[in-house]
Amino acid sequence: MTADIRVSEIFGPTIQGEGALIGLPTVFVRTGGCDYRCSWCDSLHAVDSEFRHDWRPMSAADVLAEVDDLAGGIPLTISLSGGNPAIQPLGPLIDLGHERGYRFALETQGSIAKDWFGRLDALVLSPKPPSSGMDPDWEAFSSCLSLAADRPQTVIKMVVFDDADYAFARGVANRFPAYPIFLQPGNHTPPPPTEEEAVVDIDGVMDRMHWLVGKVTEDRWFEARVLPQLHVLLWGNKRGV
Ligand code: SF4
Repeated sequence: MTADIRVSEIFGPTIQGEGALIGLPTVFVRTGGCDYRCSWCDSLHAVDSEFRHDWRPMSAADVLAEVDDLAGGIPLTISLSGGNPAIQPLGPLIDLGHERGYRFALETQGSIAKDWFGRLDALVLSPKPPSSGMDPDWEAFSSCLSLAADRPQTVIKMVVFDDADYAFARGVANRFPAYPIFLQPGNHTPPPPTEEEAVVDIDGVMDRMHWLVGKVTEDRWFEARVLPQLHVLLWGNKRGV
């Protein structure tokens, strides 16, 4: 008997909109609950306990059955996100999915380390910069890297809104030089708590993207990769795409 996974939403297939797997077809499994509360969180429906009544307790088999339905039975990459998916008991889902040919990518801020990280195919660690109002726990972050070891493709992705965030990102890159670094201009507009389409300040996001590219090239920081959130450019902050 395995513990249930608290699921906020399952949707797709769509494409992964950010980071190392950008453009890759995927189904998202978004879990409910987060140990952080970032000032600019764009997934409050999976964070705020006000939305707890929407979160479903599901077994690994039930999650996979729903993904199977969406994907037409053809195994693809499942993106585990949240909230903080590291809170949830995802090991059995990963094992069951692997038996059926699925691959698993997980994104977390790196505040909670789990031994099953080493069974993932891709791990995106996204430490939160000063603009989030959060204070990363570097011991926990390092544990995440240790538990992942060399099994999943592991990258570090950071959202950058301003100079302080940029300096933070440079510090993280210096501290963990073995990992590919992805930088992403921040997206300020929070989504509405309903299914209505969110209005995103695309001009603001693109201005920040231009500024960030300028910073990286001026500094000759040639190891960093700078990418916008493709799904935000395509759909704004609309849920379920
Ligand atoms: Fe939102 Fe992610 Fe911050 Fe949690 S860690 S509050 S999901 S941005």
